[in-house]
Amino acid sequence: MGGTGKLIVISGPSGAGKGTIVDQLLKSGKYELSISCTTRAPRGQEKEGVNYFFKSREEFERMISEHKFLEYADVFGCYYGTPKDYVLGKLGEGKNVILEIDVQGALQVKKNYPDAVMIFILPPSEEVLLARLRGRGTETEEQIGRRFGKARAEMELADQYDYSVVNDDLMTAVAEVREMIEKS
Ligand code: 5GP
Repeated sequence: MGGTGKLIVISGPSGAGKGTIVDQLLKSGKYELSISCTTRAPRGQEKEGVNYFFKSREEFERMISEHKFLEYADVFGCYYGTPKDYVLGKLGEGKNVILEIDVQGALQVKKNYPDAVMIFILPPSEEVLLARLRGRGTETEEQIGRRFGKARAEMELADQYDYSVVNDDLMTAVAEVREMIEKS
């Protein structure tokens, strides 16, 4: 991997609260977040270069052919990918980098970077997950249904990760994730 920074992969179904956990980790100043590229349209208040780098399919496919991604995957019919130069650059500077990515991408990362710390975030129950998905208010029932279906399938892959954490109480979950990263 070059430098001494840790590569940390955080996955979990939408609605498990992984974004909130990642935000808490970032507050410590010990981690850098990799911002992904995606072909999905911005949601709500999302901003270019803050939440994602929004790309057309043509641009994204050109980046694939130019080997610009550490990993990429098709999620819900849109492409999502991790910029390779940014992540390898930061690791080379000794920084710890967090990737918040889906299971398909995570498994590619693990294959290529076996030292990556793999953490899976689980919701306390399927009922809570569904309530959180609905509570966002940014998606249609059909989109929620698709995300819920994918969530169930993803949760079956949690055992491929080094650790899984149930996000029942946010601060407890954050403390657990921190401990897992530090001991890895
Ligand atoms: P959302 O559309 O809700 O922002 O993200 C949908 C899914 O794509 C989430 O599971 C998220 O973790 C995943 N994702 C975001 N960025 C990437 C990426 O760069 N690569 C992969 N493989 N998945 C990503």
